[in-house]
Amino acid sequence: MQIILQKNDDSSNSNSNDINTCCSWDNAKQLTAKLTRIVGEEHVLQKKSAAKSIYLKGARLGYGEALCVVRPGTLSEAVECLKAIVESGAVVVPQGANTGLTGGSVPRSSGSHDPRPSVVLSMRRLNLITPMDDGTKLLCFAGAGIADVGKSANAFDREGHSVLGSIFLNPSVAAGVAFGSGGTQLRKGPAYTDRALYCRVNADGKTVEVVNKLGIVGSANNDDVLQMLDNLQQPLKDNHHATVIRSDTNSPNGRAKASDSQYPKKVCMLDGSVARFNADTSGLEVNRSEGKVLILATVHDTFPRAQTSRLFWISCDSLETALDLRKRVCLASEADLPTSCEYMDRDSFDIIDQSGRVLCAVIHMFGVGEVVRRLWDLKLRIESISGLELVCDQAMHFVNNVFPQALPSNLMKAGRTFDHHLMLEVGEYGDGTEQRLLDRLNAFEAEYNANKHQSSVQIHECTTTKDVNAVKAFRFAAAPAFRTWCVGENVQGLSVDYALPKNGGLAPEMSISTATAAAAIPLKRMRYSHFGCNVVHEDLAYGLDVNVHDAKMEFKKAVEQDGGKLPAEHGHGTEYKAPLDAQERWKGMDPSNTMNPGVGGLPVSANYK
Ligand SMILES: Cc1cc2nc3c(=O)[nH]c(=O)nc-3n(C[C@H](O)[C@H](O)[C@H](O)COP(=O)(O)OP(=O)(O)OC[C@H]3O[C@@H](n4cnc5c(N)ncnc54)[C@H](O)[C@@H]3O)c2cc1C
Repeated sequence: MQIILQKNDDSSNSNSNDINTCCSWDNAKQLTAKLTRIVGEEHVLQKKSAAKSIYLKGARLGYGEALCVVRPGTLSEAVECLKAIVESGAVVVPQGANTGLTGGSVPRSSGSHDPRPSVVLSMRRLNLITPMDDGTKLLCFAGAGIADVGKSANAFDREGHSVLGSIFLNPSVAAGVAFGSGGTQLRKGPAYTDRALYCRVNADGKTVEVVNKLGIVGSANNDDVLQMLDNLQQPLKDNHHATVIRSDTNSPNGRAKASDSQYPKKVCMLDGSVARFNADTSGLEVNRSEGKVLILATVHDTFPRAQTSRLFWISCDSLETALDLRKRVCLASEADLPTSCEYMDRDSFDIIDQSGRVLCAVIHMFGVGEVVRRLWDLKLRIESISGLELVCDQAMHFVNNVFPQALPSNLMKAGRTFDHHLMLEVGEYGDGTEQRLLDRLNAFEAEYNANKHQSSVQIHECTTTKDVNAVKAFRFAAAPAFRTWCVGENVQGLSVDYALPKNGGLAPEMSISTATAAAAIPLKRMRYSHFGCNVVHEDLAYGLDVNVHDAKMEFKKAVEQDGGKLPAEHGHGTEYKAPLDAQERWKGMDPSNTMNPGVGGLPVSANYK
């Protein structure tokens, strides 16, 4: 749950005391010199600068100072850096693409009272992806982007494991595992693997252990595996053939899961449990570890590519109708699940239209890739300058209507006529999936619209690539558009990520008797979700006179009363308090509290004291 633009929110302001703490720390010079020797001067960012600031400010929440940002270029360098930082007594904040929304990817803010300075360990340069087992799996270095994973799988006519709303920013594979990031892919489930190479800080708080659960041939010894994997980067440079990586099927690790293979079955079981949530303690410790171990590389399944794919925009007269469609069309059979089924309500539609056109146009113009990523970083850099925190969103809100509507006119009309919309992507996977799903959809439409003057369900198929891309960009623009809208309208915003029971799905209601009337009735209530999974992102806008913290507590209560769990896929970060069993699991991984201290409501101090 997050509060943005809340009154007195200091999360975007730097604090000079932090810098003094970092620089006056006894081991500062020694540590930065050591890190410089390991990775080279260019990859140790020490001085306060625009380049450094993008590693220190969270995408939606959090800002803290760091002694330095270090960017290793090989796995061995990453391990050496970690050892040096740990030995020095500083704390480590592992970072991927820094698109995390809950503050856990950046150093803690000035109020933490922990004398230990932070070092951001950016894994972004470690971006190698190499196929395994005839392309049915990929070995991914920690900083590889999920959009690039998709491209690598493509070469084998297969698909990567994740599509998040942030895919246009190419978030990292390891962070997906560290959070259990979810996204749109109903047939694949959240990012998950029991095959990983990672580092753990030992209980003495001074030494580091490398744990190898990759299960690949020739990787039994830890030193060998680091060398072997680092060598994969060399042959490409020297124009040799890369070493072929294979699963060691004789070892338990080589046979372990490289995706949440039970997910299709689980998601179709419409009982009172949730499909996925971040405090889930199952699986190898890297899963949902939130930076308490350092992930170096992971193995992930790839998935069959749909032979054909069709996208439908389905407008419904009520949420109940949409939920019935979810049950009877999407989740009727685990054998023919749709590729994805996303939802947005009328407030989402309106806010994206009122504040998201610039982003949609940028995605339309440049596609998912490096240009959009660079523009996003530029926005973060500008926002990190004191006094300019809001300027980008103000500008985007102001010029919004100069840009064209992001959707084709028939969908704009549907968006303004109905209050509930689904984006249903259906694929043919070689076994008649598509036809069975479409038969169910057509029967559903016929039943609902029989004998009615006005349709309860209106189905539009997006038949051109341009329209398909426009719908996807519109959906991906939801979260950034809410921030832009709040800034532009000068209101407070509250963002919540939660999972509802699979047999539920109605919007949780805050009771007016317990919440103040103002908290119970927000100015806007924007609900958009990974509908098939019942994972909801809800953004609530409030006037400046409302106590958003109280509203947040009331909302949490309402979700939990409905059997829901928070957070579902954005991770706890510094925003959500984790339940005791999840906290204990993290303490077991990192007994000295050296890795990402302060996540999930844990103390920030050494040894959790
Ligand atoms: C516009 C937008 C839309 C989004 N949509 C979705 C969505 O649909 N679904 C969803 O689940 N999320 C979504 N997110 C959130 C975010 O993109 C995901 O959480 C993503 O997985 C974070 O990846 P990252 O590389 O940016 O990680 P970071 O933000 O850099 O890090 C996230 C966490 O992982 C840890 N971490 C990073 N690398 C490592 C490592 N090598 N070892 C150990 N720990 C590590 C960090 O310490 C941190 O706690 C969205 C974000 C944005 C901005």
